[in-house]
Amino acid sequence: MLMVDIIRNKRDGKKLSKEEIDFFINGYVKGEIPDYQVSALMMAIFFRGMDDEETGQLTQAMLHSGEKLDLSAVKGFKVDKHSTGGVGDKTSLVLTPMVASCGVPVAKMSGRGLGHTGGTIDKLESFKGFSTSITNEQFIENVNKIGISIMGQTKDLAPADKLLYALRDVTATVDNMSLIASSIMSKKLAAGADGIVLDVKSGSGAFMKTDEDAFELANKMVAIGKHAGVKVMAVISDMDQPLGRAVGNAMEVKEAIETLKGNGPEDLHELCLTLGSYMVSFAGKADSPEAARAMLEETIANGSALDKLADFIEAQGGRREDVYNPDNLPKASLTMTLTADSDCYVSSIMSEDVGIASLLLGGGRRSKEDVIDLSVGIYLNKKVGEKCAAGETVATLYGNDEAKMKEAYERLRSAYDFSKDSVSKRKLIKGIVE
Ligand code: URA
Repeated sequence: MLMVDIIRNKRDGKKLSKEEIDFFINGYVKGEIPDYQVSALMMAIFFRGMDDEETGQLTQAMLHSGEKLDLSAVKGFKVDKHSTGGVGDKTSLVLTPMVASCGVPVAKMSGRGLGHTGGTIDKLESFKGFSTSITNEQFIENVNKIGISIMGQTKDLAPADKLLYALRDVTATVDNMSLIASSIMSKKLAAGADGIVLDVKSGSGAFMKTDEDAFELANKMVAIGKHAGVKVMAVISDMDQPLGRAVGNAMEVKEAIETLKGNGPEDLHELCLTLGSYMVSFAGKADSPEAARAMLEETIANGSALDKLADFIEAQGGRREDVYNPDNLPKASLTMTLTADSDCYVSSIMSEDVGIASLLLGGGRRSKEDVIDLSVGIYLNKKVGEKCAAGETVATLYGNDEAKMKEAYERLRSAYDFSKDSVSKRKLIKGIVE
C-alpha cells in the first residue's frame, strides 16, 4: 500500500478502507510516514470529510496505537466525563468530588490548556504541592481508597492522536467534525471507563460555534462510544458566554470551592447537576437522573463533596486546609475594573474574547512551553441579561503587570455588548443526546 494512493483517494472524495486507515496510523506512529504526507491527508479529510464508518475506524486505529489503561483493579462502575472545552469551564473540579461522594469511582485523565481555554490540571496546580504526575498504581490505589484521582495523559495513551492533534494544530485542520470526534473518543476509550458523559459546548469560545454543529458532533461521539460498547451520552451546553463568573486558574478553583459550599453561580451548579445525574445513574447508584440529582444536591448540603475535594487534593500532594481556606491560593497584586457608561443591560459576552483577555494577563499558554501565571484572571460581575447602573462594575481584571492589564482591558471591553432594553438570560442546557 502506498501513502500517496491513500491521499489521492481522499482528495478525490473516495471512502477510505479500514486497511488504509490502519496503514497510515501505524506508519505515522512508527515514524515511517512523514509529516508532509499526513498533513496532505488531513487537509483532504478536512475538505472531503469522512462518513461514520471511517470516523469509527479512525477512532479504533488511534485507540489501538497505544495501551488502553487497565482499570480492572478499580472496584465498581467507572464513569468519565469530558468537556469539549470552553471559557471558565471548571466543571470537573466541582463535579468529580460530588459524583465520588455518591459512591461512583472517578478515575480521570485530564489535560493542560493551550490557547484561551485552561486545562483542569493547570487549575488544580493552584494548590501548592498538588501533582498529577503519579504512577498508574498510585492512581488506582487513590481511586479505591478515596474514590477519586486525576492524572495527566500518559504518553502511551492513544499516541497516534497526540501526534495527529499537534500536526492538525499547525496545519489548520483541527476544526473538522470527524477528526475532532475521533480524537476525543480515542483518548476517552483508551482511558478505560465503563461510562462516558460528554459536555459538548456550543458558541463563541467553543470549537462548535452553532447548536447544529454541536448536536452533530455529540451524535458522532455518542455513536462511536456505543459502537465501542461503553455507556455514553452528551449534554449540549451554552458557551455563548463564559461558564460561571470566574475565568483564570486559581480564581476558577475558588469559584469551584464556593459552588461545593452551595454558594456558586447558578449556571455552573446546574451544569454539574445535569452531567452528574447521568454519571451517577450510569453507575447504577440511582434509578433515574432525577433521583441522582437529589443525591448530588445532598453532597453539597452536607459538605461531603467539599471534604472529598480535600481528600483528593491531599492524596495528590496538596494541603487540605487550602480547600477550606481558598484565600491561601495564588492571588494577583493589581486590579482594574470595566464599568458601565450608562444604565443598561448586558446583551452579549463573547467568550472567546474573555478567554483571550485572560491569556493576555498571563493566565493561558500561547505555546506549549509557556509558564502560566495561576493568580491572574477576570471576574464577570455582570453576565448576559443582568442590569448595570451607570458607573457600576461590569467586570474586574486581576493581574500582575500593568502593560498586560491594559491590553487585556481593551480585549475585555470589546467582549461586552450592552442594550438599553432588557435582555433575557441565556438558556444553559440546549439539549441531550442519549
Ligand atoms: N479536543 C481534542 O482532544 N481533539 C480535537 O481534535 C479537538 C478538541
